Amino acid sequence: MMERRVRVRFAPSPTGPLHIGGVRTALYNYLFARQQGGDMILRIEDTDSTRFVPGAEEYINEALAWLGIGIDEGVREGGAYGPYKQSERRDIYREHVQRLLDAGRAYIAFDTPAELEAKRQEIKNFQYDASTRGMMRNSLTLSPAEVESLIASGEKYVVRFKIEPNRDVTVHDLIRGDVTINSSILDDKVLYKSVDDLPTYHLANIVDDHLMEVSHVIRGEEWLPSAPLHVLLYEAFGWTDSMPQFVHLPLLLKPDGKGKLSKRDGDRLGFPVFPLDWQDPVSGERSSGYREAGYLPQAVVNFLALLGWNPGDDREILSMDDLIKEFSFEHCSKKGAKFDFEKGKWFNHEYLLALPDRELAQLFVPVLQQHTSASFAEDYITRAVGLVKSRINFVKDLWDHAGFFFVRPENYSEKDIRKRWKPETPAIMRQLVEVLRGIEPFASAHSEEVVLGWIKDNEYHLGNVMNAFRLAVVGECKGPHMFDIAELMGRDETIARIELAINRIQPIDA
Ligand code: GLU
Repeated sequence: MMERRVRVRFAPSPTGPLHIGGVRTALYNYLFARQQGGDMILRIEDTDSTRFVPGAEEYINEALAWLGIGIDEGVREGGAYGPYKQSERRDIYREHVQRLLDAGRAYIAFDTPAELEAKRQEIKNFQYDASTRGMMRNSLTLSPAEVESLIASGEKYVVRFKIEPNRDVTVHDLIRGDVTINSSILDDKVLYKSVDDLPTYHLANIVDDHLMEVSHVIRGEEWLPSAPLHVLLYEAFGWTDSMPQFVHLPLLLKPDGKGKLSKRDGDRLGFPVFPLDWQDPVSGERSSGYREAGYLPQAVVNFLALLGWNPGDDREILSMDDLIKEFSFEHCSKKGAKFDFEKGKWFNHEYLLALPDRELAQLFVPVLQQHTSASFAEDYITRAVGLVKSRINFVKDLWDHAGFFFVRPENYSEKDIRKRWKPETPAIMRQLVEVLRGIEPFASAHSEEVVLGWIKDNEYHLGNVMNAFRLAVVGECKGPHMFDIAELMGRDETIARIELAINRIQPIDA
C-alpha cells in the first residue's frame, strides 16, 4: 500500500475559551504534521447550535497564532477540502445521512423527549439500541406511509445509526494499542436532528475526517469512547480502507494527580488554564490566560509538550524545532500527566534567561513605564536587566529586582537598618564617598579591589560596611553584586544615594 500523506486536524468546538488541554492537543497535531511534512487542518465543529459562544473561534485563532501553532488549512487559511466550518457543510451531511438511510444503516426516529423519558422510567438502564428500537416510534416500527405523513406534517425527528449488537469493535490506538469494545454497549447514536437541520457531532466529525482525508485522529483521551463509532461509521459508508490511525492523548490531571484538570482548578489554585485571557460574553466571568500572566509562548509550548510526552532522555528545554524533530507517539505516556504548574514557571524562567538582554529589556520597557515617566538609555536598561535576570520568573518580576536602578529608594528596610546601620555607620559612609571619588576607572572589579582594601586597612567589619553601602544605594540588603550596581549607576548617582542615606537614615536601637 502506498504511504498515505499525513493529514491531521485540530477540531475544536467554539463553546468557550480553548482550554489548555485543547492547546496541547493542537500542539501534538502540529508537531506530528510538521515532522511528517504533512498538513495541519483547523476544523471548527460548530454543529451544536445551543452551545455556540460568540468570540470563541477568534479566541482559538489568536491562541494558536500566539503559540506559533501554524495552520495549513482552515476557515481563514482556505484549502482544497473546505469549507472548514461545519455549519457551512449542511448539504454534505444531509447527503451522507441520506446514504445511510438508503442503505438501511440508519433510521428515522420520532420519539419525543417525553416518550423517551417514559421509557427510561419503565425500563431500567434504558438504552436506545437493538434491544429496544423495536418498541419505539421509528421508521423500523412504522410503515413507510406513516413515516412520510409524519414528516410531511412537520413532526420533528432524528436520524439514528443502526448499530449491530454484540460485535467486537477494535480500535487501534498508537499510544494504547488495540482497544476492543463490544458494540452492544453503544446506543443508536443520533446522527442528525431535523429541528435545526444539523448533524450531531458524531456524524459531522467522522464524515469530515473522511472527506478531508485525515490520516491520524489525534485527540484527548476523553474521546476514546467515540472511537468505535468512528470505526463503525467508516464501515457503514464503505470507507474502511481509509480508516485513520487513532491517537488518544493522556489526560491532564490536577497538580496533585487526583482527577482531571478542570477549568475551575486554575482560579482555585491560582494559575491559568487558558492560553489567553477571556471574558465570557454572557456571564461576564473572566478567566486568566498564560499570555497576560507574563509567559513567553515558547515556554508554554515547551511546558505543554512535556505533559504526556518526553524525548526519550532527560532533556527538558526543547524549542519548537527540537520538538518537531523529536516528537513521537512511542514516547507519549498512557498515564495521565500531572499539571505541574511550578514547572511551568521554571520553563518561563529558563526561556527569559535565554533571551538576549536587549530583547528582555524591550519586554521590560512597558513595565518600567508603569512605574516612572523618566527615560533611560536603552543600554542602561539592558545592563540593569542583565544583572538581575537570573532571579525572575516573569518580566514583571524585573521591577522588584531592578526597580532601584530607575528610582532612588524612598525608604529603607527597617530590618536592615536595625542590623547594619550602626551609630558609627554615617562616618564610615562619608569616608566611603571619598574613597569612591578617588577610584579611576570607576569599574566593578577595580572598585571592588579598592573598597575592600580600604575596609581591610581600617579593620572595618566587612559585612556591616558592605551592607550599609547596599542599603543606601538599593534601599534594602538585596540585589546583584554591589560593585556591578555601582558601575552601572555611575559614580555620581552612587555617591548621591549614599549622601541621601546619611541624611535620612536614623540608627534604630536594637
Ligand atoms: N469537536 C470535538 C472537540 O471539541 C473534536 C474531538 C475530536 O478531535 O474528534 O474536542
